[in-house]
Amino acid sequence: MRPVIGIACSKMFFSGNHLDQFFYVSHAYAEGIARSGGIPYLLPLLSSEEAPYADMVERLDGVILTGGEDPAPHLYGEQPLPGLGEVVYERDLAEIKLIQLSVERKKPILGICRGMQILNVALGGTLYQDIPSQIAGAYQHAQRGSRQYGAHTIRLEPGFVAEAIGKNELLVNSSHHQSVKDAAPGFRVTARSDDGVIEAIESENGLFIGVQWHPERMWMHDDSMLKLAAAFVQASQKSE
Ligand code: MN
Repeated sequence: MRPVIGIACSKMFFSGNHLDQFFYVSHAYAEGIARSGGIPYLLPLLSSEEAPYADMVERLDGVILTGGEDPAPHLYGEQPLPGLGEVVYERDLAEIKLIQLSVERKKPILGICRGMQILNVALGGTLYQDIPSQIAGAYQHAQRGSRQYGAHTIRLEPGFVAEAIGKNELLVNSSHHQSVKDAAPGFRVTARSDDGVIEAIESENGLFIGVQWHPERMWMHDDSMLKLAAAFVQASQKSE
């Protein structure tokens, strides 16, 4: 059976009044999973107490956490700094539930951009709220050109991502202004850019992976990046 990969949706607000709400996700996440032998299912962002997340996770073989807004700083014990971006708190809470249930049931997680950040926060790590105002000498991590192309290099330590892509240095795109500060307990840093910014984390059991760049924007035209999706689908298959 092809493994079923749940892709966590974002919420879109129309009218500026937060009344008209829609779930959405970039097509590239789903395309990459489908091209890699998985079955992509979109996961709605449910906020009721009775949301059946446990049953949803039970039926999945792996979970992708997607890009988006900044996690609320109080979730990692900080006050909001001036450089903090938009926060969608109900999304934080829903994804934290999804993460905790996936970790309990040992379902692999691939967190991308915000997905890596909320994965880290959910499991006890912290973030830089705003790279430009908090990390002296940091590169430009919010590239202004087309985000399907690489912008800066990263150096990879041995682990899931390095093995999947088969490189120890990689050119990646970059559209983030936050990054992991302290990795969550049980996680190690497996990639950084040369300015010290953390670009990947992996759990010691190899099941929970976070990457700060957007592989899905690259794998639509770059097969070498698709290897990451293929490795994740394969890991999800094994954990069935
Ligand atoms: Mn970056």
